[in-house]
Order: sequence, then C-alpha cells, then structure tokens
Amino acid sequence: MYKAKAYSAASATSPLASAEIPRRDATERDVQIDILYCGICHSDLHTVRDEWSGVMPTTYPCVPGHEIVGRVTAVGPAVTKFKPGDLVGVGCLVDSDHTCPNCKADVEQFCNNAIFTYNSPDRHLGGITYGGYSESIVVDEHFVLRVPANLDPAGVAPLLCAGITTYSPMRRWGDLTGKKVGVVGLGGLGHMGVKFARAFGAHVVVFTTSPNKKEDALRLGAHEVIVSTDPEEMKRQAGTFDFILDTIAAEHDINAYIAMLGLDGEITLVGAPEKPLPVSAFALLFGRRSLSGSLIGGLKETQEMLDFCGQHNITADVEIIPIQKVNEAYDRLVRSDVKYRFSIDMASLKAE
Ligand code: NAP
Ligand code: ZN
Repeated sequence: MYKAKAYSAASATSPLASAEIPRRDATERDVQIDILYCGICHSDLHTVRDEWSGVMPTTYPCVPGHEIVGRVTAVGPAVTKFKPGDLVGVGCLVDSDHTCPNCKADVEQFCNNAIFTYNSPDRHLGGITYGGYSESIVVDEHFVLRVPANLDPAGVAPLLCAGITTYSPMRRWGDLTGKKVGVVGLGGLGHMGVKFARAFGAHVVVFTTSPNKKEDALRLGAHEVIVSTDPEEMKRQAGTFDFILDTIAAEHDINAYIAMLGLDGEITLVGAPEKPLPVSAFALLFGRRSLSGSLIGGLKETQEMLDFCGQHNITADVEIIPIQKVNEAYDRLVRSDVKYRFSIDMASLKAE
C-alpha cells in the first residue's frame, strides 16, 4: 500500500480539499497509472453533495472522478495488455464478478457485483473506492482502456464517461443514418451526443435552455437548435423525431420531449435528476413511443468508442483547470456554465 495525493470531500456540504488516500500496490493483474487528466462529470457533483442519497448514498470521505487518462507506471506479473509508458484510460468501472450473464455479454456495468471507480466497496483495501481526482490509481487490467495516440489526452478524459454514455444508446438504437435525432441539454454529455449523432449520419437537433449556446451547438455539429423555453419553437417540431437522448441533470418536464417523437420514436434518459420525473401515459400511448434508460457502457464497447474517436478525431471540448479550482467549477456546473467539460490537469496536484 502507498499514499497518493487527492482531493476529497468530508461531507455533503464541505468543499473538496487536499487529502492523502491509500492505494494498493499493483497485484497480479493490476495496472498502476499516473493520472494526467480527469474530467468533471455532473455525477461527481451529484455524489459529492449526496444528491442521490435515496438510491446510492455517498460514503465520506469521497474522492470523485471517473474520466481518467494517464500513463502506466507499473504492471503486475500477469498483465498482458499494458506496459509502463502506455497512455491509458479508466472510466466508471474498476471491477465486476466476470462470471454473471451480464459480464459474459460484455455489459459489465449491469453486473450485480460491479465496482464503480468511486463510492463502491473496495475489495482490496476495505472501505470504499477512491476516484480520479488523485495523482494515481491502481486498476485491474480488464478495466483499463487503450487511448488512441493521435488524440489530445485532456480532451480524451471525458470520453471515458460522457463519451461512452452517449455513444452506447445511439449504437444500441440502430443505424442513425438520415434519422432525426434530438439531444436535450448541451452540457458535457450533450455536446458529445451531438458529435456522435453527427458522426453517425443523423440529422441532429439540440434542445437547450441556454440561447447563448446556439452558435456552439451548430459548430459542434447540430443542424438545428431549439430553445426549449420557447413554446412556438417546440410546437413546430412536435411528432417528428426518431430518437431523442435526454441528458438533463435536473428536474424537467420529460413529457414535452416525448411529444417531440414520431410513430415508434424512442427517448432514452441518460441524465439522472435526483427526483422522479412524472410521465404522462398518453404521451407514450399516442405514437406508440418508448421511454428507456442507459448506463455508461461495457468495457468492449468503451474501447470501440475510443477507437472510433481515434479514427474520426473526436474529443471533448474542454476547459482545462487546476485542481485548486474544482469547487468553483462545481458551482459553474450547476449554473450550466461550462464549455463543455472541465478537465483537471492533475500536474496541479503536485503543488499541494
Ligand atoms: P452538465 O454538463 O451539467 O450538463 C447538463 C445540461 O443539462 C446543462 O448543460 C443544461 O443544458 C441542461 N440543464 C441543466 N439544468 C437544467 C434544468 N433545470 N432544466 C433544463 N435543462 C437543464 O452535466 P453532464 O455531466 O452532462 O451530466 C448530465 C446528467 O447525466 C447528470 O445527471 C449526470 O449525473 C448524468 N450522467 C448519467 C450517466 C449514465 O450512465 N446514465 C453518465 C454520466 C452522467 P442547456 O444549458 O443546454 O439547457
Ligand atoms: Zn460520469
């Protein structure tokens, strides 16, 4: 075991602050990674502030971060996929049971024994797992991903959660070529959703509450932008969409978006507001529409997504910040004031 520098929260109401955490020495199948960048996901904020207490209560101290890019510094004797010096990524998962039907089907995120990168039981050291707001991490090689060499590491970090969370449901839906796809909310997930939908050949429409994001949405790949607070604009597009991805992090009227779907259209929720969203049965019945959910992606699909990004030169648009600005970044995230993902430069942790 060794000590690593990190930023952690002591309670739901305390700011993140400098701390030391234990990390295990690399065992047989482990990869030890020096973290270069870690993205800030809205899930980090939900967890740090215990906003999901009803479903997944937070254990403190909490070290968030599941959009990790770094360099391998050591590997266990049984590791075959990686060697020191490799550029790698770690997302939301660090372990699973490898034996259940979901693990065997490469959807480890749905394993009943999945271990998430932070706030999950730590099978090695006891206590809970600590995430990527840290100088290093040690992870079983099955949960470590290869990062394409042509991509900027700071912009790759958010692909490990925001990227796969938007890529996976669109791939699952089917061939989006020529389909009308809506992306609701232009934040970290939303802006990746726009990039993927465009790369998959869809006609892409962004729904935003922020009129000042209109130009960015078009630059990111949207064909049209709808300001969702304008009822006239909303009415004009009703009943015309094949697929909609809802990334909103807060309470909102999902029925307004269900009404945008055409016959057999599907809306997939990836946003995870803390309170339940009331759904109108009629909004689903008329048009035989479906409502579904999606959670990150398995390891195989995450690697496929990273390789796709390498081939198509896709990364997140990031604002790089030092770790010392993390609390300010959280406040800005709540105000939807981020273009479009914060990526923490972990070299800043050395100053602590
Ligand atoms: P984010 O960067 O904060 O983006 C969320 C966007 O939602 C905002 O930029 C804003 O877009 C819109 N929004 C925020 N508050 C709103 C409100 N009150 N009404 C309407 N729109 C609002 O967050 P993120 O990191 O993309 O995460 C989004 C959600 O997905 C979070 O709940 C997060 O926990 C969840 N998540 C789920 C998964 C999964 O596996 N399912 C994975 C990662 C994250 P506009 O300014 O354009 O309106
Ligand atoms: Zn996330």
